Amino acid sequence: MRRVAAGLAAVVALTGCGGNDAASGSAPTTTAPTTTPTTTVRTTTTAPTTTVRTTAPVTTAAPRATGSLAGRVIVVDPGHNGGNAAHPAVIGRQVDAGGFQKDCNTTGTAGGGYTEATFNWETALVLRADLEAAGATVIMTRDSNTGVGPCIDERGQIAARARADLLVSIHGDGAPASGHGFHVITPTVVHGYTDATAGPSARLAGFVRDQLVAGGLHVSTYVGSNGINPRGDLGTLNRAGVPAVIVECGNMANAADLALMRSDAGHRAIAADLARGVAAFLG
Ligand code: ZN
Repeated sequence: MRRVAAGLAAVVALTGCGGNDAASGSAPTTTAPTTTPTTTVRTTTTAPTTTVRTTAPVTTAAPRATGSLAGRVIVVDPGHNGGNAAHPAVIGRQVDAGGFQKDCNTTGTAGGGYTEATFNWETALVLRADLEAAGATVIMTRDSNTGVGPCIDERGQIAARARADLLVSIHGDGAPASGHGFHVITPTVVHGYTDATAGPSARLAGFVRDQLVAGGLHVSTYVGSNGINPRGDLGTLNRAGVPAVIVECGNMANAADLALMRSDAGHRAIAADLARGVAAFLG
């Protein structure tokens, strides 16, 4: 994410309880998994002969993924894009970020010449593989790290249109170098946008936080509370229409965080933690 402006911090302070406030609310909306056809038991002697379908059960009986996420649809959003910096007009377009206008996107941050967009992309690829291995259907919000966009509202809307089970957005932060650790951003209640998703998103954030900690990462020393940071100003979360979190996996300006974030081992570890958090939430 781009740096948090002072004015934004004030907004966060005012609405910080929103994400947790609805945590005990409605259960996450889950799209019904594809149901396997049930065999109709016919005990009567007047079994219909014209409605017997002999093909469907055969064709749908093919082996399906048997992992814990079978039937789930998960949107993985690698934040920003590798070409954003070269397209200021495109990413500067104003979009509806949840009842207010905001830039389509930003360039993202970087550390030691390693861009956030690249970190997000490389980690998202591993996460996609992990989720698919567990049986999930994964939708990525972008298909390369060389283009521009999509805008933040579109990233959320991809999840909404797919009626996904949830959205996980991967980012790296750019904060003062002394700060380190990850934080998970969850949407506050933004009326008309996240009324139904703020609660489940907060629950999802908790599961993801717990798994990142279990995997050895440290919660942020500079923002949020125990690794959770509710915000109402993020279009991707506000427009998702499904449980959604943004994971700021670390501070790319911090040497220790950056060392992990730019390594293949770091990508694998973070992705594995995120996948476990998703599975725990959906389990
Ligand atoms: Zn970012």
